[in-house]
Amino acid sequence: MTDQPQPVRVRFAPSPTGKLHIGGARTAIYNWAFARAHGGAFILRIEDTDPERSTEENTQIILRALRWLGLDWDEGPGVEGTCGPYFQTQRTATYEAALAQLKESGWAYPCFCTKEELDAKRAAAEAAEGGYAGYDGTCRAIASDEAAARIAAGEPHVWRLKVPADHGPVTFHDAVYGAMEFPIDVMDDMILQRTDGTFTYNFCVVCDDAGMGITHVIRGDDHLSNTPRQVLVYEALGAKVPEFAHLSMILGPDGKKLSKRHGATNVEEYRDRGYLSDALVNYLALLGWSLDGETTIISRDELCRSFSLDRISKKHSIFDEAKLNWMDGAYLRELAPADWVALAKPWLAQAAIDGAQAPAGVTVVPTLTKDEQKAAEAVTRALPDGDTPEQWEAALAAVDARTGFYEAVHPLIIERLERLDQIPAKLAFLFWGPNVVLDEKSRDKVLLKEGARADEALAICRAVLADEALPWDAEVLQEECRARGEAAELKPKLLFQPLRVAVCGNMVSPPLLESIVLMDRADVLARIDSVATESFGAGAL
Ligand code: GLU
Repeated sequence: MTDQPQPVRVRFAPSPTGKLHIGGARTAIYNWAFARAHGGAFILRIEDTDPERSTEENTQIILRALRWLGLDWDEGPGVEGTCGPYFQTQRTATYEAALAQLKESGWAYPCFCTKEELDAKRAAAEAAEGGYAGYDGTCRAIASDEAAARIAAGEPHVWRLKVPADHGPVTFHDAVYGAMEFPIDVMDDMILQRTDGTFTYNFCVVCDDAGMGITHVIRGDDHLSNTPRQVLVYEALGAKVPEFAHLSMILGPDGKKLSKRHGATNVEEYRDRGYLSDALVNYLALLGWSLDGETTIISRDELCRSFSLDRISKKHSIFDEAKLNWMDGAYLRELAPADWVALAKPWLAQAAIDGAQAPAGVTVVPTLTKDEQKAAEAVTRALPDGDTPEQWEAALAAVDARTGFYEAVHPLIIERLERLDQIPAKLAFLFWGPNVVLDEKSRDKVLLKEGARADEALAICRAVLADEALPWDAEVLQEECRARGEAAELKPKLLFQPLRVAVCGNMVSPPLLESIVLMDRADVLARIDSVATESFGAGAL
């Protein structure tokens, strides 16, 4: 009989000792995409055995982040399958049973060495030539009836794996690293169950993977050194050793392990900074895997069709935020305006809240440095300072009530948008009403510049915008301004930049007349008047 290929079953097994890190998210994506590409099952298992560091809150955060990423699991918390439970803390009975099997088959033995004895042996071995090579196997020699008597007498003990004395090197296949071989003598008899009855990580993982029928273990290469020990446990249990794929680490731009130092590292921070989950999934998929070495935009469907282990790279990958931003922008531009409004809603609401907070009249504000500008753009979804939940709810409802308006805003900013959190800084001016927050440098360079004739330019534009005989239409108004400017020998730049600064507060803004017609005429005129007064004195126009 030929070996029937087993249906693919993979798992993502986070420990809820923290939030979902970018590296963990990539591991989850690879498992998910591999399962989908092979018509297999993607299982989510929560490895919550560390009682000090695991929290229910972290578990919920991880589940939420995976859902936001769109990585649906076929079995796991909330999706019961035949191999549950899916929390390690609820699987103790299966570990007990596995250990009983190993005791029965002679693959496990009790060890009564005390901590003090072990420490002394270690210190002596470290001082001697050759160094410490792990537990020396003292208790292997204890006869089984003596061991049973000592256990019955209540003597504290652990249970260790009894690696056969004649065992050759441990070998396994890794889809990324190829054929792996570890000499047996570097592997001592690992502990399976501790004195307090708890089970060790390497034992639990194998019991679970074997019990859940996992065919491929795809995980970070920080687990590579655990693998030979785990392979021995598979052998001991008589279970089939899965295929492994160990993923190289994600590094920051400085070549060091990606960490807080490099900025955001957990998935929900990316969500809150306005990245689209489709873009983040695409970007992370390419950190260590490629479709063909060149394609950069790969949809979820494509990923789920073509993901394969043989295109995973051994090389470390570098997290490049600029590339992620670029990719996010590309995904944003693909969205239909209505979908964009739906996804951007919190930031559109934020723009309205920020805009409404503009002080009365004209406020001249110092020009932001590039870094300050970046920081100002990084508005999270969190409740803005000083706003009440009611205001926030009202702002969200206002977006829903004006989807037509926001769909008209969409083409004005979509070309240069990289992340949704850039929206408030770019759009707040639409919500200033009659008030203006005037950037100092823009005022000095555009309005107050010697010989720029900014006052004349504003007067011309104001007259056009005030003309109620003209339709409130961007093209018509622009043409009319241009014609009148030409007649006054004012080139378009000299004509429109002062208007831009007066209405938008800055010499950089979305398309000007297209923005203006989204505002109230009286507000626009009021802005021009008060900026002219601030810059040129009363009655300047
Ligand atoms: N729980 C382990 C971790 O979060 C993963 C174990 C595994 O994938 O085998 O690092």
